[in-house]
Amino acid sequence: MSQALFDRPFAAVAVGRPVRGEFTYAVPDALGPQLAPGVRVKVPFGRSVSLGFYLGPAPAPPQAVEARVKPITAVLDREPALTPDVVELCRFAAQHYRYPLGEVLRAALPPGLSAPREERQARPDVVHVAVALPGAEPLALHRAPAQQATLSYLLAVGGRASVDEVAHAIEGARGHLRALVKKGLVRLEAEAVDRPVAEGLGSARPASLTPEQASAVTRLEALLAAGGFSPVLLQGVTGSGKTEVYLRLVERALEQSHGALVLVPEIALTPQLVGRFRSRFGPKVAVLHSALTDTERLRAWQHLRRAEVKVAVGVRSAVWAPVADLRVIVVDEEHDPSFKQDDKLRYQARDLAVVRARQAGCLVVLGSATPSLETLENARRGRYQHLHLRRRVDDRPMPALHLVDLRVERPRTEENADTEPPMLSAPLRAAMTETLERGQQVILFLNRRGHATFVTCEVCGQNLKCTDCDVCMTYYRASNRVQCHYCGRAHPLPRQCPDCSGPLLQLGVGTERVEAEVADAFPRARVGRLDRDAVTTNERLTDLLSSFARRELDVLIGTQMVAKGHDFPGVTLVAVLLADSALSLPDFRAAERTFHLLTQVAGRAGRGQDPGRVLVQTYNPEALPIAAMLRNDFDGFSEAELRRRRLLAWPPLTRMAAIKLEADVAERCAAAAQRLAAVATRALPPPSVGVRLLGPAPAPIARIKGKTRWQLVLKAPTHAALAGPLDAIERELPALPSGVRVAIDVDPGAML
Ligand code: ADP
Ligand code: ZN
Ligand code: ZN
Repeated sequence: MSQALFDRPFAAVAVGRPVRGEFTYAVPDALGPQLAPGVRVKVPFGRSVSLGFYLGPAPAPPQAVEARVKPITAVLDREPALTPDVVELCRFAAQHYRYPLGEVLRAALPPGLSAPREERQARPDVVHVAVALPGAEPLALHRAPAQQATLSYLLAVGGRASVDEVAHAIEGARGHLRALVKKGLVRLEAEAVDRPVAEGLGSARPASLTPEQASAVTRLEALLAAGGFSPVLLQGVTGSGKTEVYLRLVERALEQSHGALVLVPEIALTPQLVGRFRSRFGPKVAVLHSALTDTERLRAWQHLRRAEVKVAVGVRSAVWAPVADLRVIVVDEEHDPSFKQDDKLRYQARDLAVVRARQAGCLVVLGSATPSLETLENARRGRYQHLHLRRRVDDRPMPALHLVDLRVERPRTEENADTEPPMLSAPLRAAMTETLERGQQVILFLNRRGHATFVTCEVCGQNLKCTDCDVCMTYYRASNRVQCHYCGRAHPLPRQCPDCSGPLLQLGVGTERVEAEVADAFPRARVGRLDRDAVTTNERLTDLLSSFARRELDVLIGTQMVAKGHDFPGVTLVAVLLADSALSLPDFRAAERTFHLLTQVAGRAGRGQDPGRVLVQTYNPEALPIAAMLRNDFDGFSEAELRRRRLLAWPPLTRMAAIKLEADVAERCAAAAQRLAAVATRALPPPSVGVRLLGPAPAPIARIKGKTRWQLVLKAPTHAALAGPLDAIERELPALPSGVRVAIDVDPGAML
């Protein structure tokens, strides 16, 4: 410290730009006292001004360059925007995911703080509340009768009231309250005003826990009390009441005014789960979902940052939330693919949640009915504790599972060779009729949108493809157009084949077509459709889900959006219209995804008083995930799948990184991929270490939005063993021809 008296002090700064490394800046005398690690600063960078983050003091640079070191221009925060624990998490992420630290730090902030501007308070959508402090005595104020009256009023209404209310009751009360604050008799608080929760989606606190819930809560509370890093897998069948377990943990944390962080998948959050947290904790939780405006996000973030709110519930980006005094993290539906971000900083929020818990030394609960094989493997190796909820709440039966063999029930014959036979098989129609007659509800699941999922020429057999993507166009009957699901390009359906003028067939069934079939077969049923075409805003989503919850709809048709987390007690029939749809995707996780999705959808049936049943339509009843799902056999499925992964050296038995290249010019992309493969190969450790390079090869979807895509994949027994080849690839990047974009995806999710 005393050195600073003689030398100019220097600062280590991470710059919020896509550049690696930390930079040294000089600290002007006036700014020195304002610097604290995590504070945002404004720094000159290249020819412009950039946002930076002060990381700590830096050693003096060599004399030769010292004169060229530029000064920090401004300190932007009074309190560090990033708390030390979030900075530490960002450092881990930057290193693990090979992303510039400054960009990671920027990603951890709400959008309102990611520009080099001073922090502004979010527009206060809050009520100001006056709170009488302990020992506040009106008698002592006899020389200030107006203040006395104000305080008396406040005490008379229980010691807490909105400033507006007091001002309405007592003239000039705002000024009196300010005076009372100065005297230390009253505190003013801002209380967030929240949007009302959609009706019919709340939930009361159950009077008692099931025995399994109770024992899980007891175990988890003990871990919470003991403190220290403890990761736990909570595996509970659908409807076993996992959410209630999370709520109790959060309740316990709040009682001791500790912080809690709950991560949920994109879609489950809106709106049912929010409703459950809101109706239990009111404004004590900050909800961070993707539909928030920037201001709302900033406001929620500021509440957390100032420790006015101690619980955050949010989607994957909430893993960065500045929760104070964090003692428990919950990741709900931990297997869900939406925890992985697939652009820019390609992080896996579930994994970072575990890292954050390790750094904070706290409890982390990963919950799922169908844990990811990654998490399961950690539990099997004893790294995570493993708790089970094997029964549904109130001993409600698990739904009965029935196979509908489409080879028998939906045969392709000579006559129907040029059209799609109906998607609703005879057994399904019968089951729907029964269910609807009883006044109960039906969910139909099909993970494809549109009317026909592809359009084929009857003569030359060509599929109608997007001109910019290596993808078949989907046909929509309502608009009589075809659309590409990758780039959004759409145009009217051509009358004939663009190549040979032959007639076009519409094949492959999507949700739009199912909706038409249901309307035909059940004209009196009230039908809703839940997919990204039908539901484009969060309001529509909330409306649709709450009207289904209020039983204003009888049938809900949808994509995976219907699969997750919803709790509709009126649903007694769930049908999977085509279980095979994701089975043959070129992705080593295809079987796992299929099993998860089918089990999650099936779990929507029979959650109320009436037992549920599930019809699974498929052409591949013997396929492992389908057969295992029909036996309700998670253990059997994961055993077999883990064996296969071990045999083929796929995660979680190995670690992976994918190097994804993209370029306008196809040849350049291929050449760059070859070049990266060559440097990676030279950097491979000896064969005994077992690091393998796959590719380079065109990506499974070889072109998107006009860009050619190639990839290479590295597999290694440990994450550390990937370092050599990845370092070599990173060093080569600046030498690649311009116009080639490269992303390194560590622990990749979907391989498409
Ligand atoms: P999961 O998340 O495991 O699928 P939920 O937490 O959604 O299950 O619980 C299923 C249903 O049971 C919900 O409607 C929930 O309100 C209710 N529930 C949960 N725990 C209890 C309990 N102890 N007593 C009564 N009802 C409960
Ligand atoms: Zn043709
Ligand atoms: Zn396209």
